[in-house]
Amino acid sequence: CGYNERRYNEKGGIIENSFNEGTVSGTGDYDVLNIGGVCGYNYGGTIKSCYNTASVSVTGKKVGGVCGDNSDGTSTITNCFNEGTVRGKETIGGVCGNNSGTIKNCYNTASVSGQYSVGGVCGDNYEGPITNCYYLSGTVADGKGGIGGKDDENGKAVEMSKDRFKSGEVAWLLNGSKSVFTEESTLAWYQKLGENADAYPVLKSTDHNTVYKAPLFSCDGTTRIGEYANKPEGDKLSHNYQMAEKADEGTSNLYSEECAICHN
Ligand SMILES: [Zn+2]
Repeated sequence: CGYNERRYNEKGGIIENSFNEGTVSGTGDYDVLNIGGVCGYNYGGTIKSCYNTASVSVTGKKVGGVCGDNSDGTSTITNCFNEGTVRGKETIGGVCGNNSGTIKNCYNTASVSGQYSVGGVCGDNYEGPITNCYYLSGTVADGKGGIGGKDDENGKAVEMSKDRFKSGEVAWLLNGSKSVFTEESTLAWYQKLGENADAYPVLKSTDHNTVYKAPLFSCDGTTRIGEYANKPEGDKLSHNYQMAEKADEGTSNLYSEECAICHN
């Protein structure tokens, strides 16, 4: 969407469950502005449960992985993520370039770069509440933070390591530190943990990818390897059985299988 506009006293449009996987690009300096992977200019509208996976690369300003400019104070971006490279000149953010609205429960995992006002989540924020958002370590050059020009503050836009993303911690946090539906909130974020874990939280519920705050054990059942699992009571990895290299000696078995992890 180029322009998601609120007219007169009406509510703005809703962009929901939408995604972009195609490159967005443009050239020009200050005449190219408000460019986003999902929406360019969100003026009083709502963007929720959307994501962008492709590069957003322009030479202008107000550029974001999900939205270029989240304007007007009543605009909201909720439960969105970006994993496409974001590049521009000024006011560049992993989720949103320029913000005076609300940004909540979002994350960015791709590199964000520009000359001025660059942030892992938001490039430039004009007093809009940005809460419970995260960005991957190393995605913002020169140690700039989650919100351009500001130090990270807990509860706003916070840096997270790859391991913490993969562990399920970020998915849990994005859901408001909940793993059950309540009357006020439904779960938006999911992630498969353990073997073949999703590297990052996803918006799609499949079988058994709800994230619970519960211990994850290694396959031997004794080594605690994580604090989040896909079962409410906790979980453990499966053994990784492989055929032993040598034939068994002194038994009637020719070969046996051994777990590559715990050697059971
Ligand atoms: Zn094992």
